[in-house]
Amino acid sequence: MSKKGINHYTDAAARAMAWHSDNIKKMKQCRFDTIAVHGVYSMQEALDFNQGSIIEPVYLSTSQAYRDSDEMEAALSYQIPTWCYSRIANPSMYYFEGALAMLEAYGSDVETSCIATSSGMAAIQTAVDQFLLPDPKNPSKPINFVATTQVYGGTFQQFSIRKESERKIEWRKVINSANISEWESLIDENTRFLYGEMPSNPGQAFFDLKKVIDLAHKYGIPMIVDSTVATPALMRPIALGADIVVQSVSKTIMTSGFGIAGAVIARKNLTSNVDNPEMKADFCMYVKTLPNRDNGPNISPMTAILALNDMRTLRSRVDMQSRSTMKIAKYLVQHKHIEQVDYLGLESHPLHKLASEYMLLADAEHDEQYGFPVNRYGHLMSFRVKGNAQATRDVFDGMQMIWRATDLGRIKSVATIPAISTHSQQGEEGRKLADIPANLIRLCVGAEHPDDIIADLDQALSVLDGNKIVSSSPEYSAGGASSASLRR
Ligand SMILES: *Cc1c(COP(=O)(O)O)cnc(C)c1O
Repeated sequence: MSKKGINHYTDAAARAMAWHSDNIKKMKQCRFDTIAVHGVYSMQEALDFNQGSIIEPVYLSTSQAYRDSDEMEAALSYQIPTWCYSRIANPSMYYFEGALAMLEAYGSDVETSCIATSSGMAAIQTAVDQFLLPDPKNPSKPINFVATTQVYGGTFQQFSIRKESERKIEWRKVINSANISEWESLIDENTRFLYGEMPSNPGQAFFDLKKVIDLAHKYGIPMIVDSTVATPALMRPIALGADIVVQSVSKTIMTSGFGIAGAVIARKNLTSNVDNPEMKADFCMYVKTLPNRDNGPNISPMTAILALNDMRTLRSRVDMQSRSTMKIAKYLVQHKHIEQVDYLGLESHPLHKLASEYMLLADAEHDEQYGFPVNRYGHLMSFRVKGNAQATRDVFDGMQMIWRATDLGRIKSVATIPAISTHSQQGEEGRKLADIPANLIRLCVGAEHPDDIIADLDQALSVLDGNKIVSSSPEYSAGGASSASLRR
């Protein structure tokens, strides 16, 4: 066999990269749904590399072989695009990451990249840990980050136990995230980033993102947003100026519920006071080739393709589920056994106006059906039963179509009682702080016809028909004998 030389491979790679980036440029001109359907996978790639497969293939292989030592050397010194080993990268992961990176930047000319992870929690760790390293010039200097307290339960544990207790990195807590001066009062020269979840799960907290982004950049630090509940179909924080978005892909993006996954999406050339030019230039590429290569928290190829497949219909699905949720919320508001309904879409919600500035269905103005900007508020809502913990459990236990599970984002409607599930670890005091009373039910509406979900709620609530309604102050004790053993 004649020797080809490294140039043979680097030249071929340059040609492939040229048509590949041409394709991405072309895709960026397309609408949201088109990007979601085609992503970065082109006909040329299908025909040249994938036997013409019209659907992105699942590459389950652990590793990539090379033709000779020259190609191996070029690949492993990152002179040519390569995936090498599936802990680091893999073509199937790449198709998912490429599509999601484009969707999060949709409607802007911001350049983004994405790294997919094995879970949403791994995505949060991947996003924040790069900023939480000691200052090499002064390793004993304390560091802190500023983040909202109304965050997903797992995030609360990661921040308070893994960062603060175990690593002595201070979490400066924003209690009222709508108050911008509260955010600012917590920032000092040792602050590494600002972090917020919006809308939050399950509380639907919401803050004025553009103002908080401006604040972060005023102090030279990045803004990180957990945008799981909104998804890029309703809100794109990076396009608004944020530096990094994290997604629990396990939720609405991968609605089928076939796996757990997460993703970090970052703008290129992000803002940070950490002296690491490579990280700032292309955060996700840096993390992929270095820290996550060494730590190994990335997504599996099978999960990546399942997520990609569900993501193709994200926009129309979120639109439909948002409309159903609104209908169900309005039904519950007028129900005699319901004390309160919390849904950002209801005008009565104190954050409705603010949420309406941010939560807009992508491309509604280009849609046959609408032709103008349309607010959609997602499929997460909660409601409070008139009655105590036991009455709430009775309603919950009466559901026949809505699944009782601690899950969110599914194609099927799912409900949980946060006080005995997602928020049981926080205890009574913690639930009081987070306003999670024992009579609160979190409902995430699926893609069923909303009338059938309303019928299920109606029959479940009818178990209270004989009850004498006692109004009392909110109860935070979870009730029931087994609540202590449910902790996990
Ligand atoms: C579920 C969830 C997470 C964690 O994601 P996993 O995929 O379960 O690890 C993070 N943030 C939010 C808002 C979530 O709902």
